[in-house]
Amino acid sequence: MKKADSKRRSPIFDLAVLGGGSAGYAAARTAAAAGLKTVVIEGGEEVGGLCILRGCMPSKALLYAAEVLHLARHARTWGLRIPKAGFDFSAVMARKNAIIADFANDRRKALCAGEFQFIRATASFVDPHTLALRDAAGAAPRSLNAKHFIVCSGSMTAPARVPRLDEIGFITSDDALSLRKLPRSLIVLGCGPVGVELAQFFCRFDVEVTLIQRGEHLLREFDADAAAVLEKTLRREGIRLWTGTKLLEAFRHGRRKGIAFQHRGRTRRVVAEEILLALGRVPATAGLDLAKAGVQTEFGRVITNAEMQTSAPHIYAAGDCTGPHQIVHLAVEQGEIAAHNIAHPGERRLMDYRLLASVVFTDPQLAVVGLTEKAARERNIAFRAASYPFNDHGKSLIMDAKDGFVKLLADPVSGEILGGACVGPLGGELIHEIIAAMRHRMTASDLAAMPHYHPTLAEIWTYPAADLAAIPPAG
Ligand SMILES: Cc1cc2nc3c(=O)[nH]c(=O)nc-3n(C[C@H](O)[C@H](O)[C@H](O)COP(=O)(O)OP(=O)(O)OC[C@H]3O[C@@H](n4cnc5c(N)ncnc54)[C@H](O)[C@@H]3O)c2cc1C
Repeated sequence: MKKADSKRRSPIFDLAVLGGGSAGYAAARTAAAAGLKTVVIEGGEEVGGLCILRGCMPSKALLYAAEVLHLARHARTWGLRIPKAGFDFSAVMARKNAIIADFANDRRKALCAGEFQFIRATASFVDPHTLALRDAAGAAPRSLNAKHFIVCSGSMTAPARVPRLDEIGFITSDDALSLRKLPRSLIVLGCGPVGVELAQFFCRFDVEVTLIQRGEHLLREFDADAAAVLEKTLRREGIRLWTGTKLLEAFRHGRRKGIAFQHRGRTRRVVAEEILLALGRVPATAGLDLAKAGVQTEFGRVITNAEMQTSAPHIYAAGDCTGPHQIVHLAVEQGEIAAHNIAHPGERRLMDYRLLASVVFTDPQLAVVGLTEKAARERNIAFRAASYPFNDHGKSLIMDAKDGFVKLLADPVSGEILGGACVGPLGGELIHEIIAAMRHRMTASDLAAMPHYHPTLAEIWTYPAADLAAIPPAG
């Protein structure tokens, strides 16, 4: 009787979306616009998702403040007198908090605008078509049925795999982005985008930073030459960078915390006031009971095909919980594709990573799109490459932004642009010209012939493009 009652009460939705972050919101908006009766279930303490609350937006707000401080401290380069550029850390954080509060407010309003139903609860599968919803108040779970589901549950900080680190204590990027007081010194474990961005932020705010990386180079997914430029810059700014290490254990040193590691056959020990764990994030799927719905996972990652469909045909996934890249615009695209494929089963859309781009918002910024030289060699893809340095370019010399270069990869026969890399001023903006060029399958000659305003940073692309265009086609 009770069961029948609860079934009668729970509406049957066309689609239930688990998680109201970037992927979940994009999926729900697309599904509702296509006429599906949709519900979003969001179980986080706050509404807004990782990008807004603890990811892209707060980190970039803080990095921008660090860049302004850095420029003010180097004002003499431009003949300016700024006697002592200092900072009020509480004011820096207050500005960041105000910006984030605005973005989160907009997201909350959009989720509650009525296009779809929005429920605050934590969801888990009971069977392939039923969710159990638990609210924060701890009331008895209620059930919700839907014909289709999109899992958009995001990611969480990877557990600390360094012996004794849990016991010694550490902070994560979540904590680092909401500190009230700066530590005097910091050990950063991990040299992916989050690790290097935060390392530079803290260093520019006068924290003594030691960055420890397992591999020989930081940012191993990126163009190796570009990563080498960033390594040099970070060292010049005073970051102690150790690469090619093996982490041994964490330890206490009085009131401070330490890390022991092996480096070129010797054991080293570094000590600081705090340790920042930035060794990556893992899919947040443990509490979803996906097996009860027949959804297969691999090390927690929801396995999907290019249509974003899981092993259970009526269940899809999008965003960090499925990957393979933890990048916001891809999470959004995956959410839209999943919702489209549910709403329009006759006209399937596929994810395509040909235009995969990544940006690291350090100064200089690193940005890549498409093929890198390393990937081309590994996959035996023929290419030609040409590059041009920022220390020989008009606009970057005006800006005194001389570190780095741009690089283009092109097909040796057709001349089609296959990839681009940029390490330098506003690299994250500049890379979009190459994304547009690649989207429209432009050749190096097309790019070289395209008008570029002078003096701009963007016109730097015309030099490697012209070099590639001047080489006669192979074969
Ligand atoms: C410090 C940092 C900086 C970053 N910077 C960038 C950047 O510059 N550019 C970029 O592209 N990417 C960046 N990223 C990555 C980016 O933030 C993520 O790829 C993106 O936000 C993932 O979106 P999502 O929708 O998959 O997950 P989320 O936004 O995390 O959304 C998942 C939602 O699901 C909810 N949820 C989880 N489990 C349940 C459940 N059982 N029931 C109900 N709700 C649930 C969560 O509360 C959460 O709100 C950064 C990440 C970090 C950590």
